[in-house]
Amino acid sequence: MDWAVFETWGKRISAWGRQYHETIRNRPVRAQVAPGDMLNALPASPPEQGEPLDAVFRDFEADVMPGITHWQHPCFFAYFPANATPPSMLADYLTTVIAPQCMLWQTSPAATEMETRMLDWLRQSLGLPDAYEGVIQDCASSATLAAVLTMREKALNWAGNEQGLSGQVRLRIYCSDEVHTSVDRAIWVAGIGQENLVRIPTKGSMRGMDPDALEAAIVADRAVGFLPAGVIISVGGTGTGGTDPVGAICDVAQRHGLFSHVDAAWAGAAMICPEFRTLWQGVEAADSIVFNPHKWLGMQFDCSAHFLKNPDDLVRTLAIRPEYLKTHGTDGIINYSEWSVPLGRRFRALKIWFVLRSYGLDGLRAMIRDHVRWSVALHDRLAAAPGFEIITPPVLSLFTFRFAPDGATDLDALNQRLVDAINDDGRIYLTQTRVNGALAIRFQAGQASCTEADVAMAGDVILEIAAQMERT
Ligand SMILES: *Cc1c(COP(=O)(O)O)cnc(C)c1O
Repeated sequence: MDWAVFETWGKRISAWGRQYHETIRNRPVRAQVAPGDMLNALPASPPEQGEPLDAVFRDFEADVMPGITHWQHPCFFAYFPANATPPSMLADYLTTVIAPQCMLWQTSPAATEMETRMLDWLRQSLGLPDAYEGVIQDCASSATLAAVLTMREKALNWAGNEQGLSGQVRLRIYCSDEVHTSVDRAIWVAGIGQENLVRIPTKGSMRGMDPDALEAAIVADRAVGFLPAGVIISVGGTGTGGTDPVGAICDVAQRHGLFSHVDAAWAGAAMICPEFRTLWQGVEAADSIVFNPHKWLGMQFDCSAHFLKNPDDLVRTLAIRPEYLKTHGTDGIINYSEWSVPLGRRFRALKIWFVLRSYGLDGLRAMIRDHVRWSVALHDRLAAAPGFEIITPPVLSLFTFRFAPDGATDLDALNQRLVDAINDDGRIYLTQTRVNGALAIRFQAGQASCTEADVAMAGDVILEIAAQMERT
């Protein structure tokens, strides 16, 4: 492609991007397509001859866009936010244009050193002590895998990578029922096995791990010859925001020599607001913490911030070249690929720099505070609405509810029908979860472009569609 064509299209795509975002409210949030629509629109075989970009772009608009679920829609209240702001998009465009590989200091000095500085900016933003050093992982799942591998190697005195697990004593890792499925997968991939992921009962309104039950499980496991290795702590779990008492759990972990990893993938962003930090009180005792700026901080996927008290343990687990350990940190050169499972890395620190400088922490705090306030207002409205009940109260901007009108019998089926009807309507998008086995509808606000009126409209849509269902 000629560079003049590239420039023309770059301008056309930014104009298209502006128009897309300025008119996004006119689109249904969830794609209204059937399985196979996209597949059938694509020829079965690749083209032999090249085509002009006009033709490709025409088909992009005609065939691809209808199959997009609009995660940047201000009325996306499903799953979790994956908010992207314009400065982040521009930074990622630059990264794409330069296309560097940022695995070693030498392959990308500016990216490496900016990553060091940006992770320290994020650390300060969350109010974490300067004992932590950070690295950008592609996602929280990768950070949790890296932490589980570190737990494994530390507990086995670094013999796992060398000898494999078959001859080792049985490792045990502890967590609650509220952790994300990425924890299960990390346990499988690390060769520890699902049977050795011990689920500790939760208690209280935050649905957090019971520290006494954790301690009892560790002691019981030791008594039968198992090797307790680590604990994974949930802060703002995916289903309902379930949160462990971080300080008390870290205390048990420390007393028993266990490595602790905090998964605050979604909720961590809110810790830029000091008033929300009680949610993870005591976190400064944790060995490892992950949160996703690519969820609720305006920095688009992929950008997961992983903080470690002692990165040497992680590097010792994942570095291919042992001699690197001798120089690690002493010559000022960091090779971040040795802090993560993948070797290749994009220049992800650039979007952190663009976003933090564009909005400042004050701008980002204002966004998060608004989302929390508007969600709580919607919670209050549904709590007072006849026929509705709150299942779990707000954790930051996430709560769950259920439609349970007088005389209704199969509430799970009724609420599934309500969610489906809301999503077919298209004005807003919600998803469901299970709480103690029963179906509950989730609401979370977190899109950067969401307004107070959008959240109020979500309440109107929920009440209107529920009322229609009651009449039919
Ligand atoms: C979203 C989420 C994850 C997974 O994040 P990825 O970056 O997609 O791997 C893990 N844990 C929690 C609590 C989450 O909310």
